[in-house]
Amino acid sequence: MKITFIGTGAGSSLGLKRVKSSILINDKVLLDLGPGAELRLEDMSTHPKALFITHLHVDHFNGVFDYLVQRKIRQIPDLEIYSTKGFLEVLNSYIRVGNNISAKVYESDLPRGKIDDMEIYSIQACHSIYAVSYIISDGNTKVLYTGDTKEPCNTILENVKDVDLIIHETTCVNDCSAWGHTSIKQIFELFSNKRIIATHIPVEIEEKIISFANNKILIASDGLSLNV
Ligand SMILES: [Zn+2]
Ligand SMILES: [Zn+2]
Repeated sequence: MKITFIGTGAGSSLGLKRVKSSILINDKVLLDLGPGAELRLEDMSTHPKALFITHLHVDHFNGVFDYLVQRKIRQIPDLEIYSTKGFLEVLNSYIRVGNNISAKVYESDLPRGKIDDMEIYSIQACHSIYAVSYIISDGNTKVLYTGDTKEPCNTILENVKDVDLIIHETTCVNDCSAWGHTSIKQIFELFSNKRIIATHIPVEIEEKIISFANNKILIASDGLSLNV
């Protein structure tokens, strides 16, 4: 499974060093598309079939609207968008005020879909608003992407048991559970025996997170691409 980190910044990140959350799987499936990530995606000149949104915080989906404009102009078939409930209302409000954009939207409390040989399903995460984590399987490899969550989150802990890789949000050094997020300290405590990549990194404290990780946990950066 080919995994490309398009955007690895947290909502608080400023500027272009780490744009907001987005991951591309096998060049076909996007997980989240935060602001700025759509520009990196356009530079890659690849056209994914589907986008799976973890939750409706701006840093996880607001890149999609500009991207839908680019697809419309270039007559690329509609993107399939799988999301928790509420996305369609936002999309329709953009359309209502005069934007020529469209997508095939599938909303659900637990979004799931099959894109070519990939099965994608969701479990509830533990965030400050309703949010899901996605499990992606292509028959060979199984990956869990948490989106935003605090830990310990029982649904996630139950579902990481048989995955090959966890892509976990890491938003602070010590404790940010009050905001529904996970620290690099907790990542060590809960997952140090698993293959894990940390993302959703605030640029302002990335050096602290990287030094805490001490080369034992891979910290994603924009553009990182690997085969799992
Ligand atoms: Zn976020
Ligand atoms: Zn969030």
